[in-house]
Formats: sequence, structure tokens, C-alpha cells
Amino acid sequence: MGATIIDGKGFAATVREKVAAHVAALQRDHGLTPGLAVVLVGEDPASQVYVRSKGKQTVEAGMKSVEHKLDAATSEADLLALIAQLNADPTIHGILVQLPLPKHMNEALVINAIDPAKDVDGFHISNVGLLGTGQKSMVPCTPLGCLMLLRDHLGSLSGLDAVVIGRSNIVGKPMAQLLLGDSCTVTIAHSRTRDLPEVVRRADIVVAAVGRPQMVQGSWIKPGATVIDVGINRIEKPEGGTRLVGDADFDSCAEVAGAITPVPGGVGPMTIACLLANTLTACCRANDLPEPEGLTA
Ligand code: NDP
Repeated sequence: MGATIIDGKGFAATVREKVAAHVAALQRDHGLTPGLAVVLVGEDPASQVYVRSKGKQTVEAGMKSVEHKLDAATSEADLLALIAQLNADPTIHGILVQLPLPKHMNEALVINAIDPAKDVDGFHISNVGLLGTGQKSMVPCTPLGCLMLLRDHLGSLSGLDAVVIGRSNIVGKPMAQLLLGDSCTVTIAHSRTRDLPEVVRRADIVVAAVGRPQMVQGSWIKPGATVIDVGINRIEKPEGGTRLVGDADFDSCAEVAGAITPVPGGVGPMTIACLLANTLTACCRANDLPEPEGLTA
């Protein structure tokens, strides 16, 4: 194995420390406490784990955490009323509605009901538009985390060839926008891309956000390239039980790449760290205070 392992877990801890230090300064100098409200509808077990972990890390960073757990049968109108109440609450700077929502709800309608300034997931159509036009926005947490890891590892990304595999609104598309913003030459690949291995072979930076376990092979990677693996897939182990793997085949990619993120311990921990960073940023913007350095795109 020749690649440097990019320690997302360690980097996320550093981001959380920076956030906590800035939060302490906000409290000391301005009497402000950033507040994050997380709304969970229904009992999806994975979502419950995420929400618990978000709440815990929010409190550890010195911020106010509010959780709203609603029954799966809650009406869309009741959820929209709660969002309106949180939009109007001056102690809440970030609102996150945990996805997926139950089938009877219109996800786009709900997300677009959040005040864009409090949309710490960066999924509101206004934030998507602002990011796409290179303006100040709330940036989706997972792609922001990937960008931070890339900047930390590579320094300037200007002029590099980047291939993002996946075109979802949550990861692939905003990731491509961020890389473009840092002056990469960006290709977005997806399920209809012809000869994906050949496309990936051109890349100095490969971001795999596909949802297919161990799909990206070492033979696809340009020697020395940086591989950011967003995938989180649970697979069966031959000896029984399960384990987490990414969208890249770690062992073969690590033979060729210059650097690679592991799964777990790579991009995953960056997502919640960036959620905390976004909540802090939202609080600073709401109060016309300078934004924390190095915690936004
Ligand atoms: P989606 O299912 O929404 O999107 C997957 C994308 O991959 C689609 O654009 C799809 O193309 C493309 N794709 C599927 N199969 C292929 C293929 N054979 N070749 C090329 N492209 C393909 O997934 P998400 O973007 O939401 O998530 C991607 C991965 O990232 C998942 O493993 C998910 O668990 C993980 N994830 C991790 C997070 C973290 O915190 N680390 C956060 C969010 C996601 P098409 O559009 O043509 O169908």
C-alpha cells in the first residue's frame, strides 16, 4: 500500500475543536449561543442514530440543541407549522429536517419552507442557486467536509482534474460545484457514463458518491491521485456478521492512489463536524459578526 490515509476522524475532531473555541468566544464577547434544531419524523432506526449523535456533538461544542421527534403519522401541515415556529425563533440559528421523510410528505416543499439562512443542510433551493452562482450560501455538509479534507491534503486545487461519481442533489452535484469553485476541471459521472474506468483514469481527484460497495477499482485510478470515498455500505463478512465499506475498493485503490480516505473514519465524521460549523456560521451571519475562518467554503 503506497497511499497516505487521510484521517477524516482526526480532522473532524479538529473542526469540532475550532467550532467549540469560536462558540466560547461568541458567548464571552457577545452573549450569543448558536442553536440547532433537528426535526425527526417517524422511527427510522438509522435516522434516530444520526439525530442522537448530532444532538450530542452539538452540546459538546457548547451550542444549544433542540430535538423535535414527531410521530410518523404527523401531517405535512403540522410539520410546516413547526418549521414556521423555528424560523421565527431567534435562539435557533440552524434547522435540520432529517431525511428521508414519510411517503405522505413532499420533501422539496418541506425543505423549501426552512428559512434559507437557517438551512444548515444547504438543501433549500435558494442555497442551491447561490452555490451554483458562486455566492455566499449554506453548503451541504458532506461535500463541504470532502472539500475541507482535499484543501488540507492538497493545498490549492486550482487546475486539477476532478471526477465526481454520482449526481445526487445531496452529494454529487454540490461537490462538483465546490470543486469548480476551487478552479478544478470537473467531470460528473453517473450510471449512464460510458467507460467509467477510462473517465476516472483522467482524474487527479476522484470523489466516489455512488452507493455501490467497493465499485471503484485500483486499476481505474491514476497513480498518485487523491481518492475521497463518500460511500457508506454495510456488507456481509464471509465469516459472518457485517462490516462497513466505501464505494471504492480500498485495498486496490490504496496501491495506486497518492492518498485515500478510509471507510469508516474518512468522510463520515466530517459530515456532523460540518453541520456544527454551518450552525456557527449561520449564527455569525444572523448577528452580522465575522464568520469563522476555514469553516466555510
Ligand atoms: P444516490 O443514490 O442519491 O446517488 C447515487 C449516484 O450514483 C447517482 O447519481 C447514480 O447515477 C450514481 N450511480 C449509481 N450506480 C452507478 C454506476 N454503476 N456507475 C456510475 N454511477 C452510478 O446516493 P447519495 O448521493 O445520496 O449517496 C452516495 C453514497 O454516499 C451512498 O453510499 C451514501 O450512503 C453515502 N453518503 C455518505 C454520507 C456521509 O456522511 N459520509 C452522506 C450522504 C451519503 P444516476 O443519477 O444515473 O442514477
